[in-house]
Amino acid sequence: YSKENGGNRLKVYTPALSSKRVERFNMETGLRYAMERGELALNFQPQVSLASGKVYGAETLIRWSSSDGKTIQPGEFIPLAEETGLIIPIGQWVLEQACRACRRWIHAGMPSLVISVNISALQFQQDNFPDIVRKVLKDTGIAPHNLCLEITEHTAVQDMEHSIRMLGQLVEIGVKIAIDDFGMGQSSLYWLKKLPVHIVKIDPSFIRNLMEDSDDDAIAKAVIEMSHSLGLSVTAEGVETESQLQRLQQLQCDRIQGFFTGRPMTSEQFVAYFLEIANW
Ligand code: C2E
Ligand code: MG
Ligand code: MG
Ligand code: MG
Repeated sequence: YSKENGGNRLKVYTPALSSKRVERFNMETGLRYAMERGELALNFQPQVSLASGKVYGAETLIRWSSSDGKTIQPGEFIPLAEETGLIIPIGQWVLEQACRACRRWIHAGMPSLVISVNISALQFQQDNFPDIVRKVLKDTGIAPHNLCLEITEHTAVQDMEHSIRMLGQLVEIGVKIAIDDFGMGQSSLYWLKKLPVHIVKIDPSFIRNLMEDSDDDAIAKAVIEMSHSLGLSVTAEGVETESQLQRLQQLQCDRIQGFFTGRPMTSEQFVAYFLEIANW
């Protein structure tokens, strides 16, 4: 016999994956293989001392050139790497490669450069992180004072007791500590005093309108003065114009980093950049 109307037909629901989730899934899969395929690369952005005009060092910034030829910026994949835990092996790779690059620069005749590396919250939460840092220094042969670890203000204030303990151990190794994105979070002067750190990095959002917005100028001035009175030095990030540079010089900011003095570049380009500045 035959049923009319196909009464036995099974209705299959395929829950439509939203394109956002598909994209995210693809990116997560891609990121897992990115390291093995050598799709991750490092750029270095110069940091320049304002008093001397000398190159202080460089910040390490990760890039991902995916197999389809696109360059993916860290803002797009670092949050995903943090959610999935992939930031642990990726961060480890960045730290090693950055120290290796720094050793090449030292051998090329730039012994006092400081290489800065961004450390994510997840890395910072690992109790054995100081051992990891010690091992990388030993394996790559650079001195602790050649390495600066950047921790965001947000990471630093998440668990203050842990931060004080962890930073204390890192400072004991002899590496420098910078508080990144300063002014964006909720750290108080009290915590800045408590945390064993050396450098405060003023967030670009306060520098962008430095010349037009008197509030931003007041904030930059206050951060610089306060940091100095606590014995910390200051790097201003996102400096794009000469007038911003000059204003920061007036405010006795210690260092600047931004498109005006140099965009993120390859390790080889950085060597050339250094030699060019040194010969001015
Ligand atoms: P960040 O550590 O605050 O790095 C500074 C960002 O500002 C970089 O963006 C840099 O390219 C950008 N920048 C520098 N100068 C200027 C300027 O004059 N104007 C403007 N408009 N932008 C400027 P990038 O490379 O896209 O990195 C974004 C963020 O991704 C970083 O912010 C950092 O939080 C994170 N990141 C980058 N590399 C790593 C890494 O290896 N590990 C971890 N955990 N995070 C990383
Ligand atoms: Mg940084
Ligand atoms: Mg920053
Ligand atoms: Mg930032």
